[in-house]
Amino acid sequence: MGEFDLIRRFFQRPVHHAALGVGDDCALLAPQPGMQLAISSDMLVEGRHFFADVDPAALGHKALAVNLSDLAACGARPLAFTLALALPRVDEAWVGGFAQGLLALADAHGCELIGGDTTQGPLNICITVFGEVPAGQALLRSGARPGDDIYASGTLGDARLALEAMLGHVALPLEALQAARRRLERPTPRVALGLALRGIASSALDVSDGLTGDLGHILRASGVGATLDAQATSQLIAARALFTSPDSSLPPDLLHQCTLAGGDDYELAFTAPASRREAVQEAARHAGVPVTRIGTVEGTPGLRVMDGNGQPLAARYASFDHFGSI
Ligand code: ADP
Ligand code: MG
Repeated sequence: MGEFDLIRRFFQRPVHHAALGVGDDCALLAPQPGMQLAISSDMLVEGRHFFADVDPAALGHKALAVNLSDLAACGARPLAFTLALALPRVDEAWVGGFAQGLLALADAHGCELIGGDTTQGPLNICITVFGEVPAGQALLRSGARPGDDIYASGTLGDARLALEAMLGHVALPLEALQAARRRLERPTPRVALGLALRGIASSALDVSDGLTGDLGHILRASGVGATLDAQATSQLIAARALFTSPDSSLPPDLLHQCTLAGGDDYELAFTAPASRREAVQEAARHAGVPVTRIGTVEGTPGLRVMDGNGQPLAARYASFDHFGSI
């Protein structure tokens, strides 16, 4: 199967919202008046972002999910995406599985595949997403103010826990491993929450590299500091609930490592004024995802991570290098 047959068979589909999709030299988008385009790219490289033997449908899902997560962080509604794909060989079953996982998530979000590029090479997937947001309403990293609450959506740390288990660093009960692996391989982009937080959150981003490091981006962009409650964040790991025997639990060190510095969570971390607590919870209910208050923005620069006793937590959980310049 040649390059063009492959594109036609797996990636060429009718478009409904875009003005022109796959098949010409450019795709065409027709933004609505008063809207801004939100654009983001994310690349997934074999060996770096996923294992070679990962289920292709899960990989297709994740490749788009991490991009939709960026739109969610900005409060943008997904419109369309392009797919640049390097494949070592044409394995029709593999590409079919990949396309199925990719396009199922695309359809769930009304996000159309409008173009891309296909080449032979080491497996590499680069997606660019296009979303829309009313002019001036995008959620940015720079709006956090002293006194604001800090929140995280959903769960934190399960993806990292799965990775630790797959690398043989920790043994998990089967059910916990499966749940954690699902979070690693099939993250849920919080698109509805991002939309619901427009006009409520003062700043937002998606947690891709680990909570404390990513939160550092908000603090730096906003020129503020924060205190984070590690007791609260340690509750957000979902897999722990699946430990059934009383003497099997996660070591606290691993728990903090996963929830504070884990990465691959694709949850939203955001800030909002304390006066908007009810509005935040209403947005969360509307979006169908829980949000948890995990800290407070402060004027004093730097990130202070506190344990349940109000004592500072060891620096290794906190990616403190990220904050050297605050
Ligand atoms: P060009 O030679 O003009 O760069 P290509 O031959 O690379 O165009 O691609 C032909 C058409 O197929 C274009 O519309 C392009 O956007 C689309 N396309 C190529 N690869 C993909 C892909 N992986 N997914 C979706 N569309 C693709
Ligand atoms: Mg061209």
